[in-house]
Amino acid sequence: MALIVQKYGGTSIGDAERVKAVAARIISRIEAGDRLVVVASAMGDTTDRLIALARGITEEPEPRELDLLLSTGEIVSSTLLAMALRHSGHPAVALSGAQAGIRTDRRHGRARISKLDPKRILQELEAGHVVIVAGFQGITEEMDITTLGRGGSDTSAVALAAGLPAERCEIYTDVEGIFTADPRYVPEARKLKEVSYEEMLELAAWGARVMHPRAVELGAVYGVPIYVASSFSGSAGTLIHGGAAMEERNKVMGIAQDTDVARITIRGVPDRPGIAAAVFEPLGEGGISVDTIVQNASVERLTDLTFTISRHDLNRALAIVRPVAKSIDAPDVMADTHLAKVSIVGAGMTSAAGYAGRMFRTLEQAGINIELITTSEIRITCLIDESQVPKAVRALHKAFELESE
Ligand code: ASP
Ligand code: MG
Repeated sequence: MALIVQKYGGTSIGDAERVKAVAARIISRIEAGDRLVVVASAMGDTTDRLIALARGITEEPEPRELDLLLSTGEIVSSTLLAMALRHSGHPAVALSGAQAGIRTDRRHGRARISKLDPKRILQELEAGHVVIVAGFQGITEEMDITTLGRGGSDTSAVALAAGLPAERCEIYTDVEGIFTADPRYVPEARKLKEVSYEEMLELAAWGARVMHPRAVELGAVYGVPIYVASSFSGSAGTLIHGGAAMEERNKVMGIAQDTDVARITIRGVPDRPGIAAAVFEPLGEGGISVDTIVQNASVERLTDLTFTISRHDLNRALAIVRPVAKSIDAPDVMADTHLAKVSIVGAGMTSAAGYAGRMFRTLEQAGINIELITTSEIRITCLIDESQVPKAVRALHKAFELESE
């Protein structure tokens, strides 16, 4: 009898009918002999509606109270799911994150799980119950309820699978798995049978819609196999794992895109030690995560410093960078938000040559100008004009023959 953690996302349990449908899926697994711990997300757009309610009272809700409020979304869905199971004759019990033993630090709104005390879950399993755990939440040492950040139920599920421990974690959502590219851009995108944690993290730029990257990271650290599939169909999903014998070791696995890019260029920066630190230290202290950094070769001891960040951070970053530029006598700070990233991702790229050239040639043939290039061990990313993204993704998908296995 395998112990499995399953997680159902908001649309999978969006209304009473869907809750009953999910109960039926759970029952068929129990009847097949598995023991289940099920993590529930809030129904549909409940979390957004709760946030809107709070904002109707004040623009800056107290983080402690906001967390307590938001935690109710997952309480509603987990209790209804337990009721649906009991109504169908299957003993089930719903537990809040706190009751399930999920301990966190005190960072309201973005708490991290510090410890799992699974005693109660194990007791309930022992008693033959299906255990339904409210996702996205935990409790501090001081007995305050916290939430784990938007999309945090995935993290709850993987953490439970790691801590119990369970054989694997199954994430049920409204898409069928991880595809070679965003199917909105590439109709012939292919569902992957398996993908490594590292590749999944690199694909997360659009894959984040499928699974929360923090949960993938946690899965990688604890070696929890994560299976992503649709709760609306019976078709096979994608297994994210660390197995060495991946099916296509030497190929590009997928194309990712990310349109959340803002670029800042500081012109005429003096070329001397300490300048980069002077610029990037305050950004780090301001909690702004900087992505690509390019420093041009200097002409007459002056250089341009270019970097990219998330568009949400642009105003805050400019407020930090402008005074710094002034203090180092750099005459000009420019910003723009028309760029986007397209990436090719694949573990096999580490050991094989020619991928970069092929990518650049493909973009050139599609008439797309590359503005910046960055790489990791298993990814090559080009920054291009945002309007060209669909064309670029389609061209790259074709050039790397991703439609055929
Ligand atoms: N309900 C929370 C959210 O919408 C957590 C989750 O769905 O995973 O962000
Ligand atoms: Mg959600």
